[in-house]
Amino acid sequence: MSVLPIVTIPDRGLREKNRPVSKFDADLQKLIDDMIETMREADGVGLAAPQIGQPLQLAVIWTAPDIDDDGNELEDTRELYVIVNPEIYWRSRETIKGIEGCLSIPGYVGEVERAESIRVRGLDRHGRKFQQRFDDWTARIFQHEIDHLNGVLYIDKLTGPERIWTGEEFEQMRDELAAELDEEHDPAIGD
Ligand code: ZN
Repeated sequence: MSVLPIVTIPDRGLREKNRPVSKFDADLQKLIDDMIETMREADGVGLAAPQIGQPLQLAVIWTAPDIDDDGNELEDTRELYVIVNPEIYWRSRETIKGIEGCLSIPGYVGEVERAESIRVRGLDRHGRKFQQRFDDWTARIFQHEIDHLNGVLYIDKLTGPERIWTGEEFEQMRDELAAELDEEHDPAIGD
């Protein structure tokens, strides 16, 4: 496995539509393994193929860990998903605001309102169909990654033009923001 370079804005590939995966061959398996390693190396919770310069409807997701009562991250609660040609076919009417980052927009985080729950269908890495409901933070990660596959970035969906901060600004206002937000989850994600 190898770590791949991650492209950043204003790379044009981040804004293009991506084509469906049709061949589930050894090359695809290698690409997926490399994407998983790249995501882990970058400490991200998701990575979409256009972020490593591949115009494919493919993303990997590694869900955020549960946190125990003492604030420790429980690594073995994280789940890995490989999603191919995914489609969100249902969104809850309930939405939730949260703070997102993106490996392709380094140094910034911004506030985005997303559906609290979604249902996704698509294929796994071997071309087998899957269909699953996701909630809360995991639903947010899936929405962020599937947006990537349609050329959409979180900065297109900010709750307001001023609702974006550098990492440093964010650290300073973390407590204030956490109090404003609907959720208590540690807000910064990088994907
Ligand atoms: Zn992203």
